[in-house]
Amino acid sequence: MAGSELVRITVNSPEAAREVAPIRDQLDRMGIDVPLVGDFHYNGHKLLTQFPECAAALAKFRINPGNVGSGAGAGSKHDDNFARMIEVACLHDKPVRIGVNWGSLDQALLARVMDENARRPEPRDAQAVMTEALVTSAVESAARAEQVGLRGDAIILSCKVSGVQDLVTVYRELSHRSNYPLHLGLTEAGMGSKGIVASTAALAVLLQEGIGDTIRISLTPEPGGDRTREVVVAQEILQTMGLRAFAPMVIACPGCGRTTSTVFQELASSIQSWLREQMPVWKTRYAGVENMHVAVMGCIVNGPGESKHADIGISLPGSGESPVAPVFVDGERTVTLKGERIAEEFQAIVSRYVERRYGAEGVAGAAPRASTALA
Ligand code: SF4
Repeated sequence: MAGSELVRITVNSPEAAREVAPIRDQLDRMGIDVPLVGDFHYNGHKLLTQFPECAAALAKFRINPGNVGSGAGAGSKHDDNFARMIEVACLHDKPVRIGVNWGSLDQALLARVMDENARRPEPRDAQAVMTEALVTSAVESAARAEQVGLRGDAIILSCKVSGVQDLVTVYRELSHRSNYPLHLGLTEAGMGSKGIVASTAALAVLLQEGIGDTIRISLTPEPGGDRTREVVVAQEILQTMGLRAFAPMVIACPGCGRTTSTVFQELASSIQSWLREQMPVWKTRYAGVENMHVAVMGCIVNGPGESKHADIGISLPGSGESPVAPVFVDGERTVTLKGERIAEEFQAIVSRYVERRYGAEGVAGAAPRASTALA
């Protein structure tokens, strides 16, 4: 419901592997076609072999080479396990994300890279060595997967770290050294605004450089919270950067000394939530509605101007203004709202606008804003 386009599930035990196909079946019965990605660790080679229906039901396998095998130095038990998982992927024609994580980096490979660094005339610093080890693990594992028989276009790479600058450095290097699609994510980003800011800072730099094909935001949920925030943040990063559109965006001013009450904040918040709640139905009925811009402004200083630039906007009364709220539609001032029911009336106006502009009749004559697909 939150809008994730890929759902990853942990498959770490026979019990979990047994449940994958029934989960897929249940989703299919519900008409939900979201791909399921199986996250495998130490026993993935056994689970994928023992539960072929699990392998068949998944859309993609995620393999952490640090937990399974480095992919280099053929012959080790770990490498046999890695190869076994790749063979199952080939058998079922499934893509594989080789997901390296600095918290579980293959220690043998790290030792090798450190040894090589120590022999250099001018050894690099610890950070550069870590970057080299992460990227090498991903690139060598991909090469090994291709040797085993996996098609190159069925391989996706990721190299997750928890530092913003480190992530940018690692992915720039990874994109320089490989042509595989890249999955981006700042791992262990943290809670609340810190996790959101850090993830946005890191991903924005990379996305702006054209690096990244899928993204994941890793936020620690509040106690009792769920993971939908991760999806909303991911969508908002892409949408505010103009790369994709998922739901109408609300443009709201911060409020200031001219804001006379909390009405303006409440309206901005409620309209944002309401717009997102409508999307499961709207996206099936109103093509392009996700590109709509709604302005909710606190007073006359910037209210009319910003509202005129939006598809639909409202300028609430600031201090010293008469208690009325003009509504602007497609740049033109239309009705003026006042009284206790401004929020409900504005919502009804937005509903009618969506129907008229993005409904079957409106689409024919409308010129929706372009949306840029994430390449
Ligand atoms: S639009 Fe008005 S209320 Fe909003 S920040 Fe600007 S001056 Fe303040």
